[in-house]
Amino acid sequence: TKALTIRKLRKTYDNGHEALKGIDLSVEPGDFFALLGPNGAGKSTTIGIISSLVNKSAGHVDIFGYDIDHDLVAAKCHLGVVPQEFNFNQFEKVQDVVVTQAGYYGIHHREARRNSESYLKQLGLWDKRDTQSRMLSGGMKRRLMIARALIHQPRLLILDEPTAGVDIELRRTLWDFISEINSQGTTVILTTHYLEEAEQMCSNIAIIDDGSIIENTSMKQLLRKL
Ligand code: ADP
Ligand code: ADP
Repeated sequence: TKALTIRKLRKTYDNGHEALKGIDLSVEPGDFFALLGPNGAGKSTTIGIISSLVNKSAGHVDIFGYDIDHDLVAAKCHLGVVPQEFNFNQFEKVQDVVVTQAGYYGIHHREARRNSESYLKQLGLWDKRDTQSRMLSGGMKRRLMIARALIHQPRLLILDEPTAGVDIELRRTLWDFISEINSQGTTVILTTHYLEEAEQMCSNIAIIDDGSIIENTSMKQLLRKL
């Protein structure tokens, strides 16, 4: 089973804008996959549809074999998403943000406390566990989003521009953490508009431009072409 399969995916927004013009994509389990494209290419729309926050106009998406139209609950169990915008409750304390999310997946409170401790420690947020999340810096908020996305131990983690707004010094540690998650077996897909970021980490890449996939290859092949 593929970690992610997208077939003939289309999205036309209400204003008539065709953001996705029928894209196909598949990602193997365990892959570290980059979706690269300029601003406005359709990256966030694609992620929005995968996480069922945006309605698609046509096409199919399945996550570890679960079609989001027919098996949404099962699909979501396997999926963790880190969107660009900070959409946690800013008035909740840091650990509570993660524990609350665990509750949506039916994870027992005690287990949620324990697992959130582990992720917050790995992400350097444990000292901040009792801080109201709105007090965190941008980089810390980004890491909190990642901890929250991992709490149900998804097999597929999707990050939309994970290093946006993160200080240069912290980017390295963030990349290290994400690649550690990947080496433990989690499939990782990230979007970026910088090839330099993707080329060091990612094994496969798709390039999206103006709603179409214009390249889908291994990173090695792509770099050889350039
Ligand atoms: P990316 O993430 O690659 O920057 P997006 O998926 O955000 O691209 O946007 C793709 C295109 O769809 C852009 O032209 C954008 O302006 C347009 N778009 C995004 N959201 C909406 C919306 N809610 N209504 C209309 N057009 C939208
Ligand atoms: P706010 O309204 O301040 O954004 P919420 O508590 O409504 O805070 O939501 C916080 C986060 O939890 C959001 O990112 C939202 O997507 C997520 N969330 C809310 N309800 C659910 C749910 N039923 N299942 C999964 N995630 C949820």
